[in-house]
Amino acid sequence: MTGTEPATHEIDTTRPHPARVYDWFLGGKDNYPVDEQLGRQITAIDQGALRAARANRAFMHRATRTLAEERGIRQFLDIGTGIPTEPNLHQIAQSVAPDARVVYVDNDPIVLAHAGALLRGTPEGVTEYVQADARDPHAILEQATRILDFDRPLALSLIALLHFIADEDGARDLVATLVDALAPGSCLVLSTMTADFEPENVRRGIDAYAAGGVTLVARSHAEVGTFFGGLRLLEPGVVSVAQWRPEDAPDGDGPISLYGGVGLK
Ligand code: SAH
Repeated sequence: MTGTEPATHEIDTTRPHPARVYDWFLGGKDNYPVDEQLGRQITAIDQGALRAARANRAFMHRATRTLAEERGIRQFLDIGTGIPTEPNLHQIAQSVAPDARVVYVDNDPIVLAHAGALLRGTPEGVTEYVQADARDPHAILEQATRILDFDRPLALSLIALLHFIADEDGARDLVATLVDALAPGSCLVLSTMTADFEPENVRRGIDAYAAGGVTLVARSHAEVGTFFGGLRLLEPGVVSVAQWRPEDAPDGDGPISLYGGVGLK
C-alpha cells in the first residue's frame, strides 16, 4: 500500500463521507451515525436511493465481467473503489481470469482502513491498493504503472465517482488525462448521477449532501456522453445503469438516477 496524502489518513466521524453513506445504502457496517443520518435523509427524499446503489453495484459487476469475457481485458484500474463489498471488482475479474491484475484507488481513509479485503485475490493475479485523489491523475498513473502495463489494454473504472467531482474541480481533466494514457483496446467504464429522470428528488438530494459538506453533481445524458469523447461506446450506449445489458428482472419500479456506459479506445 502506498500513500500520497498521509495527513488525510484519519477517519473523520464528525461529518458524512460519500464512501460511508454508500456503504450504509448497501447495508454495510462500516459507517458512522453522521453517515446513517444523511443516508436516512436521502432515502426519505427518494425511496429509490437504496435500489440505485444496488443497481450501480450490479452495473459494475456486469461491465467488469463483459470486459473480461468478451474483450479479454486482464488489467483493471478502479478509481473511487469504495469500502469493500463482496463481490469486489477483482473477484469478478479474477473469476473470469485468475491472472487479472487490479489496482484500486480511493482517497477516503476508511477505504484504506479496510483495504485488506481488496488485496485478497487469486495467487495468479495481483491486487494493489493506492491511496490517492482522483483529482491528481498523474500521481495515480505514476503508481499504477508499477502494477499495470499501459502499453496493453486495460479497463479504467470510474464508477459512481464523478458525481463527487465538479467540472470546475477537474472531473473532465482527470478523465481526459487518464484516457489519454490508455493503450488502444482499453475501455472506460463509468457511472454518474443524473437529474434527467427525477429532477426534484435529485435536487433535494444534492442539497442534503451539500448541507453535510459533500459536493454532488448531476449531469445530463449529453454531459455524460462527452466523457466518452474520442471513444466508441459499446451497446447500448449511455443508459440508466439498470438498463446496461440487464441480466436479472428489475429490482422494483421507478427510474434509477445514474447513467452508465462503456467506451472503447
Ligand atoms: N466505485 C464504488 C464506490 C462508489 S462510492 C461503487 O460504485 O460501488 C464513491 C467513492 O469515490 C467513495 O469511496 C469515495 O471515497 C470515492 N471518492 C470520492 N471523491 C474521490 C476523489 N477525489 N478521489 C478518489 N476517490 C474519491
